[in-house]
Amino acid sequence: MENTGKELTLKLLIDKKSDKVLFGEANKDVVDFIFSLLALPLGAIAKLLKKDAMVGSIGQVYHSLGMLNETYILSKEKISSLVNPTLASTSNTKSNFLLSQSTHQDTKDRRLYVCYNPNYSSRSCRYVSEDPGVSCPNGHGLINTVAMFVPKSDVSSAVAVGSDGNGYVKGVVTYTVMDDLTVVPMSTISSITLLNKFQIKDLGSLEEKMVNIGFEEGLKLLKASLETKAVLTNVFLKKNRASNYA
Ligand SMILES: [Zn+2]
Repeated sequence: MENTGKELTLKLLIDKKSDKVLFGEANKDVVDFIFSLLALPLGAIAKLLKKDAMVGSIGQVYHSLGMLNETYILSKEKISSLVNPTLASTSNTKSNFLLSQSTHQDTKDRRLYVCYNPNYSSRSCRYVSEDPGVSCPNGHGLINTVAMFVPKSDVSSAVAVGSDGNGYVKGVVTYTVMDDLTVVPMSTISSITLLNKFQIKDLGSLEEKMVNIGFEEGLKLLKASLETKAVLTNVFLKKNRASNYA
């Protein structure tokens, strides 16, 4: 899958002895992403994770809806808003980047054609069509030039880099993200308190590691957050197990 923006980064503190992530240090962008998981409609989660990868039965509900013949359906638009909640929720500017990227994918699959015929210098013509065989009502010939799609928002704007007005939390502080995705401002607990809590005696067993959160990792985080209390460990350390989250 293509990457439409910069990736989020998270600094992990790993205990090599137990092969566990103790906690991560995250900035506003990562924390906004984690909190925005709560804004995902259940239908979007089912769509993102696919039927067989879903715990529980919501995946089957989603699948059944998609399989229903038009004969049984009252309104295609209503069904579509359930099956493609990405499109239904684009008015939410704080939307999770998993949503905006999959919306981007959907939009890429749908081609729009614009009236663009250099012979008529039709640059300012406003007609577009989904069918490349349609003639422009202004007499410019066929509307058959593939329109270039500009995504509404990429990763960086969807999860609000920089400006404080976007996203959920303020950007001035660093946050501690625990393995179970508990998020606290870093200033409220000291690293020493945390190390005591984890009963780390040998500092030599600790390792810092920077990891990226792109679309793939975002999906894995979403899936792991529904299944385990050891999210960061599962997504970023357990190579074999992590592949189950694909
Ligand atoms: Zn035209």
